[in-house]
Amino acid sequence: MHLNPTKLLNAIAFAANKHGDQRRKDADASPYINHPIAVATVLAAEGDVSEEVTLIAAALHDTVEDTQTTFEELLEHFDPEVAGLVREVTDDKSLEKMERKRLQIEHARNLSARAKQLKIADKICNVRDVTDAPPADWSLKRRRDYLDWATDVVVGCRGTNTKLDQAFDHAINRAKSKLGTE
Ligand code: NDP
Ligand code: ZN
Repeated sequence: MHLNPTKLLNAIAFAANKHGDQRRKDADASPYINHPIAVATVLAAEGDVSEEVTLIAAALHDTVEDTQTTFEELLEHFDPEVAGLVREVTDDKSLEKMERKRLQIEHARNLSARAKQLKIADKICNVRDVTDAPPADWSLKRRRDYLDWATDVVVGCRGTNTKLDQAFDHAINRAKSKLGTE
């Protein structure tokens, strides 16, 4: 499908505005928008994904979960398929944190092919962050636990895009050699 660069750039601008002054959890408190841009870049550059809906949803993937943005608002600005894909990768925030994490593992295999790829790209970026720029207050154990949880989520997302599967494996192997295993 043809990729309309204006639509993708508009989505990045929308996310940049929504994430505004938000920061990631690393010691340098990086601008939050760096993360959705990194996820879209992993899909394109490492997963050879050129499909418009997936790349736009990647730019928007944390807007509902981490800002005041609603799905109705996404529907006003973007195609229904984009809003639907963001919905697929958004946790239900009415649930407890640990329950949400458990459900990510359980639901992964039932996601659409687009959502599986977006989910893997998100985990690739977070595993790289946990390796190189982790949340400032996390212990080594907590960083290792995150790697195990991300691996469990990705089990259900595999098989749609071999390049992304391999990029995830590479990210995990590098994380484990840097952080050590038990
Ligand atoms: P969180 O879910 O609290 O944080 C990880 C998420 O933060 C990532 O998935 C990512 O999400 C986002 N993020 C922002 N900045 C960074 C960064 N620099 N590096 C990596 N991720 C970043 O953490 P956990 O999943 O570990 O914890 C979940 C629950 O477990 C919480 O309730 C926590 O209090 C509890 N807990 C767990 C411990 C453990 O040992 N595992 C110890 C103490 C508490 P996104 O891509 O969506 O932005
Ligand atoms: Zn994310």
